[in-house]
Amino acid sequence: MSDIKKHLVSHISHALTKISDDKAKALEKILSDNKLPFYKRPDEYTQHLLPERGLAILLSKTICSAVSLRGNSGVVLNPEAWDLNEVSDYVRQAMRNFPNIENEPVGSEVYLGGSFWVYATGDERAKALAAWHEAKELCTQGYIAVDSLYFSGHREYQVNSDLFRIWFGDFDSNPKLLESARSVLSRALGGFQQQLMMLSYSGLNVYGPRMSERRENAGAFSDVRIIPDEWGQSARSPKTCILGQYFFDPSYTSESLRNLIVGMDDDDMQVSRGGCVLHEATHMFSNTVDAPLSEDVLKAVGSEERSAQGYGAKACLTLAKYDSAAAVNNADSYRIFCEATVYKSKVRPGGFP
Ligand SMILES: [Zn+2]
Repeated sequence: MSDIKKHLVSHISHALTKISDDKAKALEKILSDNKLPFYKRPDEYTQHLLPERGLAILLSKTICSAVSLRGNSGVVLNPEAWDLNEVSDYVRQAMRNFPNIENEPVGSEVYLGGSFWVYATGDERAKALAAWHEAKELCTQGYIAVDSLYFSGHREYQVNSDLFRIWFGDFDSNPKLLESARSVLSRALGGFQQQLMMLSYSGLNVYGPRMSERRENAGAFSDVRIIPDEWGQSARSPKTCILGQYFFDPSYTSESLRNLIVGMDDDDMQVSRGGCVLHEATHMFSNTVDAPLSEDVLKAVGSEERSAQGYGAKACLTLAKYDSAAAVNNADSYRIFCEATVYKSKVRPGGFP
């Protein structure tokens, strides 16, 4: 599929994200009445996941709903009729009619990419969108908490400065830490407020036996990448957060941490779904990394694993203590700091370790 058609799919997915569940269901019915499965797994031989007729129907119901397109003979084109020439005409004209087709959609919030419309359930779509909103809130609260540390009279100063020391290090002796953290959170927040983020699906529904052989890029319609045993990954252009198997698995991820004590035990690592999206957002908007652990940190964590990175509470706590320059550039440190900021009243009533 050409790049232009790839963008077309992004525009359709962008429009689909805005329609109601009822409308989405009605659309699925039209597609299935035309014997076009909305949910179609790719296989080794199929690059075009979405047949042209399906593309035409989706176009007519989303970005082209207000335009009636005419074929060469002047008749109004109906993609639900079964004439293949008309269907091709429709797609060609739709692409000509649509001004931004050569670029990715623009905007300032979030949409569910093609993969979500091919593979995910309605429940999974709802979880993903809720997580983006939660991530934005986590980022806002984390930024406010760091910003409050510039005002020693702030009523939350004490609790916020404790949180900062725990997750990033002693900013009294090293004010640069505060500057770095404020900059990371401010850029991430700017991203949430001003840039369009695409969420991409890599949950349980794409784990067919054929898919696992292909590993990635299985279909032109979708942006599917297989990331087993992970919460998420990010890409910067376009801004994409790929949500993995763990994200959708309740044994690894909670809806939020509102009713939980933040997991301090790495063997039982709990991540809020919003926290997962926030972690990826700090990669894509603020260039954070998953910090490699230095010798000192490894020793303190008690890990033998040379390739260990700054994931989870134990590693992040230790980073802050022994390598705070790395902590302020480590994605998971921001995830946990922001979660702790929002849910602080629920976090370890007796205080932090
Ligand atoms: Zn990461």
